[in-house]
Amino acid sequence: MLKVYNTRTRTKEEFEPLEGNNVRMYVCGPTVYDFPHIGNARSFAVFDTIRRYLEYKGYRVTYITNFTDIDDKMIAKSNETGTEVAEIAAKFISEYYTIAQQLNLKPATVNPRATEHIDDIIEMVALIIKNGVGYNVDGDVYFSVPAFEAYGSFSNIPVDELSSRARVEVDERKRDPRDFALWKAEKPGEPSWESPWGKGRPGWHAECSVMGKHYLGLPFDIHGGGQDLIFPHHENEIAQSAAAYGIEIPVKYWLHNGFLTIESEKMSKSEGNFSTAREVLDHYDHQAVRLYLVTGQYRQPIDYNENAMNQAIQSLDRIKNAVDTIKGRISILERMGSRESDADKKLTEASKKLRESFEKEMDDDFNTPGALAEIFTFVREVNTLANDIGGAAVLRESLAVLAELVGILGINLEEDAKLAGGTGKAAETLKGVIEFLLELREDARKSKDYAKADLIRDRLKQLGVDIADTKDGPTWKMS
Ligand code: AMP
Ligand code: ZN
Repeated sequence: MLKVYNTRTRTKEEFEPLEGNNVRMYVCGPTVYDFPHIGNARSFAVFDTIRRYLEYKGYRVTYITNFTDIDDKMIAKSNETGTEVAEIAAKFISEYYTIAQQLNLKPATVNPRATEHIDDIIEMVALIIKNGVGYNVDGDVYFSVPAFEAYGSFSNIPVDELSSRARVEVDERKRDPRDFALWKAEKPGEPSWESPWGKGRPGWHAECSVMGKHYLGLPFDIHGGGQDLIFPHHENEIAQSAAAYGIEIPVKYWLHNGFLTIESEKMSKSEGNFSTAREVLDHYDHQAVRLYLVTGQYRQPIDYNENAMNQAIQSLDRIKNAVDTIKGRISILERMGSRESDADKKLTEASKKLRESFEKEMDDDFNTPGALAEIFTFVREVNTLANDIGGAAVLRESLAVLAELVGILGINLEEDAKLAGGTGKAAETLKGVIEFLLELREDARKSKDYAKADLIRDRLKQLGVDIADTKDGPTWKMS
């Protein structure tokens, strides 16, 4: 039974979708004004893993993640660089898709942009005014916090603290300091749209209420984002949806990822203590970066430093070495023929236990470090048992389980698994050619032509194929 920590209730709850087997999920995406930092990428990777695990459990997930392509930061960047807002957005949306591909994020069902939903936003703002919870001052429309009793109950922040914490500029025209902008009147040179209140653009929080409703309907199951979004962004989103559409609980489960930190401080653009995802992905193996991003339970902070990255690299190596060990043993058995062995039963048992314990950890609010620990227990077992395994089928099965489970964490071992499983024409041919050369090398050794045997080994090594000799004969792996 899957349990998830719900920010709304501050408890771990049993997960039950609102409607049968369908999970409707919305994750706040990037503001596309600059290169995302590796902390933003943590949020992307965490929710991708959560989505993949839900799909593994058999749910049909509709996954929406947006691009904020109009807001104060976009406009500031445009003024700074003399580039159109739309051009900045296009550049960084394209960058997001590159990162998504390198981090192996599954494509979203839809990646909507705020500017594609201006009409929906205007409609929502009009409803909020009509329901007496919004007011217009010379083309700026505000949400009236005192008119909405439940305000503050989501983020659990005392009323007097709310005004000081509100991330909004001081504005004389607001009736209450906690009021926030739903619609902002046009300033010279800014992008703007026609509205009943004159030309202007949406406030930041409006887009997520509208796009969640548009693509998923209200209420929906899961809303995700970083912990910095609990207040004001999500508090305001709930207030808007309730005030406009009369739905007091627009989202059943609210999930918030912890921060990626540098020396225990939140990584952020404004503090200047950041590395862009681009820099990190250019420097380290992409799969190691992905693994690093899920090494901590998603609500806990993870620190970014060289040591943590080196550990992720080592962890990935351990997994890949186990894959190579399995593949090597499969190729030996294909040459020697399978035979009965006690170790087979043990490996089957270990694969079964891996699946069960992995699920137990992930069912506990997506405890990825626990799930990874189970993978390493299995990897140790593989290393102990491999040379005694007699059946290739058992090995293939264990590799398939390993590949499936690490796949949930975003690590794609499928190519390796396919090569060992012998599917795919090119993989099959390559495997056959290597096996044939190994036979020739064995023949050379038998007739004491060690020079030829070594030549074959060395040439294969140059070509990226490493040979190792075991008691049952040689194995190989791609280096
Ligand atoms: P932004 O582009 O600032 O809207 O952020 C995109 C996503 O990254 C949001 O879900 C943020 O909450 C999240 N985020 C921002 N900084 C961090 C951080 N240091 N660690 C983890 N997530 C973050
Ligand atoms: Zn949002």
